[in-house]
Amino acid sequence: MCGIVGIIGREQVAPLLVDALKRLEYRGYDSAGVATLDFGVLDRRRAEGKLGNLDKLLKENPLGGTIGLGHTRWATHGAPTVRNAHPHTTPRLAVIHNGIIENFAELRAMLEKDGYVFETETDTETVAHLVTRALDRGLAPVEAVRQTLPQLRGAFAIAIMFKGEDNLLIAARNGPPLAVGYGEGEMYLGSDAIALAPFTDHLSYLEDGDWAVLTRSGVIIYDESGEIVDRPVQKSAGTAFLVSKGNHRHFMEKEIHEQPEVISHTLANYLDFSKGMIRAGAAPVDFAKVDRIAASACGTAYYAGLVGKYWFEHIARLPVDIDVASEFRYREMPLSKNSLALFVSQSGETADTLASLRYCKQQGLNIGTIVNVKESTMAREIQHRISNPRRSGSRRCLDQGFHLPIIGSGIAGCSGRQNARNDQRRRRAPACARTIRNSTLCNAGVEARRSDRGYQPRTQPGQTRALFGARHELSARARGRAQTQGNFLYSRRGLCGRRVEAWTNCIDR
Ligand code: GLU
Repeated sequence: MCGIVGIIGREQVAPLLVDALKRLEYRGYDSAGVATLDFGVLDRRRAEGKLGNLDKLLKENPLGGTIGLGHTRWATHGAPTVRNAHPHTTPRLAVIHNGIIENFAELRAMLEKDGYVFETETDTETVAHLVTRALDRGLAPVEAVRQTLPQLRGAFAIAIMFKGEDNLLIAARNGPPLAVGYGEGEMYLGSDAIALAPFTDHLSYLEDGDWAVLTRSGVIIYDESGEIVDRPVQKSAGTAFLVSKGNHRHFMEKEIHEQPEVISHTLANYLDFSKGMIRAGAAPVDFAKVDRIAASACGTAYYAGLVGKYWFEHIARLPVDIDVASEFRYREMPLSKNSLALFVSQSGETADTLASLRYCKQQGLNIGTIVNVKESTMAREIQHRISNPRRSGSRRCLDQGFHLPIIGSGIAGCSGRQNARNDQRRRRAPACARTIRNSTLCNAGVEARRSDRGYQPRTQPGQTRALFGARHELSARARGRAQTQGNFLYSRRGLCGRRVEAWTNCIDR
């Protein structure tokens, strides 16, 4: 999943575009590029590898201009070289694209016959030439795009900037996510809220088939049939604060150290730590009516699902099938009205998981999702958004160390809720929380000293390990560890309401 950014602003946009691309690095990429329009001149810089290479190139050879596009590419058509890196340009425009144009070969053959010369091996370049051909035939940019989009098959998020039009960006979505950001006299495009976090937190998400015409004063959004549509402006939770590295060396380190806190926030959706109770109405699915779960996910979310299967079956006594999402919809698994189709995805945008979800929607099945990004497509398409941890949306690392416990704690909250239904006597010591302790918090390196009866030696492994409602006091650091306060979970007695102090390991620079 690559990244797309577009800005029509008031200041020089090239550094802002690179900055926004850096926040999309977590999606993975192999090359990157930026194009701007400066006094009518369309120019671009592109580099293989890390964004640092593009940054360096821009320092040596800067780009001016207050309108521009930025892209991180994850090659599908053509090697990850500078020549294939986006933006792709013609004398009339620059294009960036996320996804695949499935009918690119036939489009390319047709355009070559018309005399258009291709410089790259990418599918994306067909879009550049198709729109250019429409402009060459005398159409204005908006009309040219309107006539081009129906010719494209496949999954795409596209943004186009036109030579001589320094107050116009046009974007389209059919599959990969694309958000429009609202500023004051400035407008933005981004693959997600994280990319645009420092610029704006007011966003509209394009639906599949939508395309949008952005100027400095606003946006007009059209649907697939060409009708103007209203897409609600939402306030995003992807704030700049959450995507900074803080005082950590890298995001992986930061996110590992955030585990206890974020897990406690996630579990707090389900568990009332002060009373040691399951919250009423915590999970919007009525699990009492569910007799089977068919879960599907990809990658790390799939591993979280495997752990979830164990929890649901062991704790909640609910049978669970788990599939890799790319297989799920081809399996045509028989599902009854009492089954819950459960889709797990960190980003809420995973293409195969989303396709499986839509397949189940068409079958009229009972659907739930567990996602970390509440503005994501999967979260928006479904009523039963089971887990939406308040502080876990803006993740930068794709590591199992972070996502598995966070997604897993959402699942645990659900299984705990069902467990409470099954066995009222266990409400004070949610088994899900006990399991979470063993499988996740130890990873975070919480070593503790109890303070309820004064300081005692550090607890032995297997005694008191998990800490919920943790507050880290980074000012109180000693010998590479940060002071932390929270509620302990005792291995046999379940949740303990007392506040205690602990030290979490933190790696000094
Ligand atoms: N298919 C396009 C390419 O290979 C875009 C890939 C992407 O999503 O980054 O250039």
